[in-house]
Amino acid sequence: MLISGRPAAARSGDYFESFDPFTGKAWALVPRAGIADVDAAVQAAAAAFRGEWRTMTPTVRGQIMTRFADLVAEEAENLAVLETRDNGKLINEMRMQCRYIPQWFRFFGGLADKIEGRVIPIDKPGVFNYTRREPLGVVAAITPWNSPLMLATWKLAPALAAGNTIVWKPSEFSSVSALFFGQLFEKAGFPKGVVNIVTGFGHEIGDRLVTHPDVAKVAFTGGDATGRRVYQAAAGGLKKVTLELGGKSANIVFADAKMDAAIPGLVSGIFAATGQTCIAGSRALVQRSVYDQVTEKLVAFAKTARIGDPLDPETQVGPITTLPQRAKVLDYIGIANGEGAAQLLGGKIPEDTSIADGWFVEPTIFGNVKQSMRIAQEEVFGPVLSVIPFDDEDEAVAIANDTIYGLAAGMWTQDLGRAIRLPERLEAGSVWVNMYRATSYLSPFGGYKQSGIGRENGQTAIYEYLQEKSIWIDA
Ligand code: NAD
Repeated sequence: MLISGRPAAARSGDYFESFDPFTGKAWALVPRAGIADVDAAVQAAAAAFRGEWRTMTPTVRGQIMTRFADLVAEEAENLAVLETRDNGKLINEMRMQCRYIPQWFRFFGGLADKIEGRVIPIDKPGVFNYTRREPLGVVAAITPWNSPLMLATWKLAPALAAGNTIVWKPSEFSSVSALFFGQLFEKAGFPKGVVNIVTGFGHEIGDRLVTHPDVAKVAFTGGDATGRRVYQAAAGGLKKVTLELGGKSANIVFADAKMDAAIPGLVSGIFAATGQTCIAGSRALVQRSVYDQVTEKLVAFAKTARIGDPLDPETQVGPITTLPQRAKVLDYIGIANGEGAAQLLGGKIPEDTSIADGWFVEPTIFGNVKQSMRIAQEEVFGPVLSVIPFDDEDEAVAIANDTIYGLAAGMWTQDLGRAIRLPERLEAGSVWVNMYRATSYLSPFGGYKQSGIGRENGQTAIYEYLQEKSIWIDA
């Protein structure tokens, strides 16, 4: 792990195994942190917050972040391979992410010396009132397994630029890349203790990290059940919280859509990441007049998807990251069949014996899904697409919004008026028109409704890690 700038084993000496979802075998040993390790990491972060990091000029802080970005860029290929081995997601996707991550550190590093206060024209003669924007202190970053480094970067980059210090706990299912990433912080020149990494199980150390009295803010990405638990635990200390949680995003196809873009858009929106992305377009809403045509093409296109080794750049569908997650996906397929959804494709573990060791589920498509079905309401987090017919715009909006979630939505149309009208009516933090699943360091990302609290990415994300102080001087 990384505690106070030094590589650290768990105090107990314990390790746990990390599995390669393609081979089904353990391939790495990861330190299994306990409460004492969490306490040491928080203590290191708290000391670093009071130390050199606090007095360093923001320009220098930004320069260190830029150096870090350069180091990550040099290591991008290695990091991508580690991520794919650890979580089984496609190498093309992990490469794209690892090559893109430096932009976050450059962008937020560049913002570090552009954090400005205000002078307030106060209503008291002779009194000067101004504000400073100051960091919060120690930020606990807790991240899931699906995009390990990218989702951590969304927290670390703005938090560090704002002058906070970090204790990061990656997912127990994908900690390996985090430990290599961790080696780069000191090389870049971050003072000791500014970034600390503890690896271990959420149910063993998560609560201590969230409730530690020296943690000022919790930045969490993960499932909504865990998110709720984290929110409740953080409430005890009235800590600031951002939550990026699940989704049940609608990808809406109108009859006037360019089908040669919409069909691959629907397919990659759900299957490219084996459905293991919070913004997966897991509900395809298709206008009734083209419903048969679209489902037919969808099934034909998805059928040709190459299932296999995620390290092979030709592979289009990789394994599920964890065995319990595969069991959950198969359960949902059973539930959907039990509820009467029409299974149009997939639905089981692939029969291909050459990939039998991997934790695969076939790309699965259900047709004629009804909103009342669990498959239309609950996040599966796997390669399962529900296709739902609609008649007109109003019905499309009603179905799209009929969910507790509000993370993202997509729509495919050539009607300019509709492309402008509809995004306003969709209850989602990101809406894509004639595209799907794009994110950037420049554009805010986050959930409406129960998909989360707060925003990551974009200029305003830095304010999630700052507080404004009002200073009064009787001149
Ligand atoms: P998870 O909720 O099981 O775990 C997330 C993290 O929380 C892990 O590091 C885990 O160890 C930790 N954790 C577990 N129990 C904890 C506790 N009691 N206290 C503190 N931390 C605890 O999520 P997952 O299965 O790893 O990831 C999948 C979920 O993440 C999906 O629901 C997905 O939608 C969501 N997700 C959301 C976004 C987003 O930006 N909105 C992005 C990716 C994933």
